[in-house]
Amino acid sequence: MSDYDTVSADVEHEDEIPEDHPRYQDLLTRHRIEKGVDKGITHLQGMHAEGRGSAFDYLLGEETIPSANDAERAAAAELLLAERPVLSINGNVAALVPGEMVDLADAVGADLEVNLFNRTPERIAAIASHLREHGAEEVKGLEGDARIPNLDHQRAKVDADGIYAADVVLVPLEDGDRAEALDEMGKTEIVIDLNPLSRSPQVAEVPIVDNIVRAVPNMTEHARELAGSNEDALRTIVDEFDRTKALEAAESRIRNGL
Ligand code: ATP
Repeated sequence: MSDYDTVSADVEHEDEIPEDHPRYQDLLTRHRIEKGVDKGITHLQGMHAEGRGSAFDYLLGEETIPSANDAERAAAAELLLAERPVLSINGNVAALVPGEMVDLADAVGADLEVNLFNRTPERIAAIASHLREHGAEEVKGLEGDARIPNLDHQRAKVDADGIYAADVVLVPLEDGDRAEALDEMGKTEIVIDLNPLSRSPQVAEVPIVDNIVRAVPNMTEHARELAGSNEDALRTIVDEFDRTKALEAAESRIRNGL
């Protein structure tokens, strides 16, 4: 047994996970989800979602493949072009990348909205305060005063001046039903999901097949670099992005290692 085999994700603090561990990112991600569950931020079901994501990431090579980088650049351009961009935050997103989502919102001028599949006032409040601890000033989603059509009551709740009114929405690790319902509302959807065959990336204008821990900081970097670009240049980046090719490239990497 190597030293690495003795490292468990069950450590008190993430600093205890050795950075040179071959599965460092996976252990870190698991640790953050477990802490999220402890803190009441992440639902237990979020652990299953994490396990599925982890398997796809292993097959992708745990790196941002070129087509995902193109998608992240197109997503940054799309968010910069938007009039009312909103970044949707669920329990896994809050546990994994709270500060990174705040940075992205800042770079593209978007609102942050807590949007939960298993919605309870306690979890919404816990996530909102977690985001504030990571630098968020305003967090939407507490009102839940509008409904996404064609979804059951709890899952349909959004803020009237948030996701309901948004033109472009980033929905990472989103459930397929809600991604489809948002698509039917005519939103431009950017989805981050490690499974290219999942319904959410299938309905997204910009599907990003990458781990959220790599995708969000990379989108922010692209957004900062593109911030001075004019509308035509941003539109060209969006138009040149081919969503079908990006999904095919990710599937081919996962199935064949190509
Ligand atoms: P469908 O969209 O068809 O309903 P599903 O039921 O598998 O698919 P959910 O469990 O609702 O989807 O959402 C979890 C999705 O998030 C999975 O596709 C999983 O691969 C993905 N996922 C989990 N962790 C990460 C991560 N860290 N980064 C990116 N994607 C992730």
